Amino acid sequence: MIQMRDLSLAGQRLLIREDLNVPLSNGKILDNTRLKAVTDTIAFAHESGATVMIMSHLGRPEEGGIEPLLSLRPIASALSILLKMPVNFAENWIEGFEAKAGSITLFENVRFLKGEQSNDEGLAKKMASLCDIFVNDAFATAHRAHASTHGVAKYASVACSGPLLTAEITALNKALENPKRPLVAIVGGAKVSTKLEIIQSLLEKVDSLIIGGGIANTCLKASGKNIGASLCENDMIKTAEKIIKDTETNIPLPVDVVCGKKFAENEVGVRKKTCEVSPDDMILDLGEESLQQIEKIILSAGTILWNGPLGVFEFPNFAQGTKKLAQAIAKSEAFSIAGGGDTLSAITSFNVGDEISYISTGGGAFLEFVEGKTLPAIAMLESRS
Ligand code: AMP
Repeated sequence: MIQMRDLSLAGQRLLIREDLNVPLSNGKILDNTRLKAVTDTIAFAHESGATVMIMSHLGRPEEGGIEPLLSLRPIASALSILLKMPVNFAENWIEGFEAKAGSITLFENVRFLKGEQSNDEGLAKKMASLCDIFVNDAFATAHRAHASTHGVAKYASVACSGPLLTAEITALNKALENPKRPLVAIVGGAKVSTKLEIIQSLLEKVDSLIIGGGIANTCLKASGKNIGASLCENDMIKTAEKIIKDTETNIPLPVDVVCGKKFAENEVGVRKKTCEVSPDDMILDLGEESLQQIEKIILSAGTILWNGPLGVFEFPNFAQGTKKLAQAIAKSEAFSIAGGGDTLSAITSFNVGDEISYISTGGGAFLEFVEGKTLPAIAMLESRS
């Protein structure tokens, strides 16, 4: 891929696709990790003398309409504070935009535009006509062929990779191509069906696989344990059976868990051996003994890949598993990479961000890259090199 840092940017109109899809509540930004991650790219482009235009999506609005709560306007102010320089906001931009030389402008949500998600050629051409150089810096959306990630790169005069996208790919390749062993992956969370596929491809690469959340529940059930009313995807049991039968990878099944009777914030957690779970129990976290096993594996790892919490870490009584895992990764000497929306919030809650070697901004893209899939937006940049 052509690299943004290798180009002469002075006087050029740069259109940068970032992923500014931050969690919002009534216009208030709940976590600004993704915004902090893009400031270096924007500052570099600005200091190099470029006129900077930024586009991103936010949430999942209905295409062709405008949802005020999913406007990027508050993000422009937040970026301006982080960058310590003015960031303008443009609501109407797609039909033509005259940016002041040397300015920085954030465009309104690309998903308000008809044709964005279907990668409409006409829309992609309009985007491409706004700039001299298109920069894709949005790893988190690289697994989607949308007009602002894929089509625009096809039609722009020059299409290149931004520093953040390049850093993400470099860090992931470091962990996947020639990792320091043992390579340990942790996969937790709730979206069982989307993650069992990644687990299958991880089994070919990793030495140990630690499972948590709904994935651990599904594997426990597949091993014949009673998991009561816990989160589990029954049509995934067959896949889970195959996974736990893998003899070449160390996959420790939880030996104890923390259960509640209700999925509620103030529910009290009761530690039980996995053979003691009753029909009305919900497994909401891993127990102390399982965590000790996990900590040992983490502390002897050479490389760690982490996606998904081990339990319902948002509820204080079920947060211990994810907290102890985060702390063990922080303590370990291994090269560690964490990715995925909820994993990032867990890292922020337990304040271990500085001790993790690389925090990927990608969720779905992170998983697909680890699976070895070709990400369409990256493939398009490669074809333009
Ligand atoms: P994901 O987006 O797949 O990474 O899932 C993250 C979510 O999984 C978090 O909001 C957790 O609260 C939830 N989660 C983790 N463990 C469990 C569990 N045992 N039961 C229900 N939800 C869980």
